[in-house]
Amino acid sequence: MGRAFVYVILGGGVSAGYAALEFARRGGYSRGELCIISEEAVAPYERPALSKGYLLPEGAARLPGFHTCVGANDELLTPKWYKEQGIELILGTKVISADVRRKALVTAVGETISYKTLIIATGARALKLEEFGIQGSDAENICYLRNIHDADKLVNAMKSCSGGNAVVIGGGYIGMECAAALVTNKIRVTMVFPEKHCMARLFTPRIAEYYENYYTLKGVTFVKGTVLTSFEKDATGKVTAVILKDGKRLPADMVVVGIGIRANTSLFEGQLVVSMVNDGIKVNGQMQTSESSVYAVGDVAAFPIKLFDGDVRRLEHVDSARRTARHAVSAILEPAKTRDINYLPFFYSRVFTLSWQFYGDNVGEVVHFGEFTNSSPRFGAYWVNKGRITGAFLEGGSREEYEAISVAVGRKTKVTEMAELGKQGLAFAVQESQKQMSDSGLAIGERPTYVWHATAAVVAAVSIAAVGYWYGRKRRRW
Ligand SMILES: Cc1cc2nc3c(=O)[nH]c(=O)nc-3n(C[C@H](O)[C@H](O)[C@H](O)COP(=O)(O)OP(=O)(O)OC[C@H]3O[C@@H](n4cnc5c(N)ncnc54)[C@H](O)[C@@H]3O)c2cc1C
Repeated sequence: MGRAFVYVILGGGVSAGYAALEFARRGGYSRGELCIISEEAVAPYERPALSKGYLLPEGAARLPGFHTCVGANDELLTPKWYKEQGIELILGTKVISADVRRKALVTAVGETISYKTLIIATGARALKLEEFGIQGSDAENICYLRNIHDADKLVNAMKSCSGGNAVVIGGGYIGMECAAALVTNKIRVTMVFPEKHCMARLFTPRIAEYYENYYTLKGVTFVKGTVLTSFEKDATGKVTAVILKDGKRLPADMVVVGIGIRANTSLFEGQLVVSMVNDGIKVNGQMQTSESSVYAVGDVAAFPIKLFDGDVRRLEHVDSARRTARHAVSAILEPAKTRDINYLPFFYSRVFTLSWQFYGDNVGEVVHFGEFTNSSPRFGAYWVNKGRITGAFLEGGSREEYEAISVAVGRKTKVTEMAELGKQGLAFAVQESQKQMSDSGLAIGERPTYVWHATAAVVAAVSIAAVGYWYGRKRRRW
């Protein structure tokens, strides 16, 4: 039993959807030559919606409303769209082995699917508590959040827990976004994580303090610097309490676990070069792996970031998934015309009525700026390394302000006086971006390429932000 395609996209998540759109736009295939194989039962969708619009108590986002590529203000790729485009969707199908030398994949039902060119878009999976020696993840009221199946389980758990207690394990963005959703669903939340503060990989202590205070005012309790060691369960196997390392017992009607992800590389181990630093499939600036007929994109790919002097990074962000997917298709169809990717890392989140964006790399000395107030927060930070801005964070900015910080990072703007940078704050980035626009001879409304990329990313964030008008926003899009 077998089928043959020219192009196979393995994985049906964010990057698969954007790759399909790019193929369709460029018209680089004939009907029946391109397929997407996905373990999920539904066509690719905008995964960030799962921790935001999908969890709203009323007017929640549901498919088909958030299939890709609406998150980037582009077409909504429903199953009908794939049919019309002659792209085969092989859904509910797990690939269990791959042979890059023979250019063949084998599915769980034993079908062999061969290809001429493969795009690996297998993303990542949520780390399970079992991997840390804690048993019991399969209880019906313990939730993870990586796919729509997980999201449905979480929604059901929330429905049966209104007015009850939830314990959120992990202080990263999944934990923070889920905690906000639980509160919005009238559930009392305790967050537990081992670090000194939330979002420890990105936030400075000062930024984290702002969000923790905000969450505390919403009724969230933080238990920091410790981990869970076990669960108490009732006779039906439902978790009733979480036991922490320090012996503390937290009553729980449900538990949400967000302790990180691991790239889905296992099919290709021993066949493709894997980045030792961050466990992704290593690719070049064309998103091409160590095997020339195989490309990798999205969360699974570790690619060189020009802005970081070619440092190879595996990013876990939706904008990177979209852009690397499109870049790979461009490189496959028009290799001579496709330059190496020049990507400005960008990440955002939205909780309650708050919204932040981050560009670049959080290395170097930190300079905070702005109003860390609850009424109208508008604050942020620059990271400065070797006299240049390497990263910038902004909460509550306008579209122009987000664009300005992206320019400041994208241009590695020089900083002569740290004290002056702190004094000027956001105005520094705004002025610098205006100066650079006029230096490059562009009129207002025109944008150099890298700014355009950043703008597109901002638009994407704004659009994603519209998913079912998250937490309190009165404008609903999906
Ligand atoms: C709940 C949630 C909220 C998020 N929010 C944000 C946010 O606010 N901002 C942000 O920047 N990023 C966010 N992200 C991250 C963003 O969604 C990811 O970076 C993005 O989805 C990565 O796209 P991908 O295509 O690489 O992987 P995925 O979207 O994970 O897709 C991978 C696909 O491959 C399939 N697959 C894997 N292995 C196999 C196999 N062996 N056979 C068949 N199919 C397989 C999977 O089933 C899945 O369909 C969020 C992620 C989650 C989970």
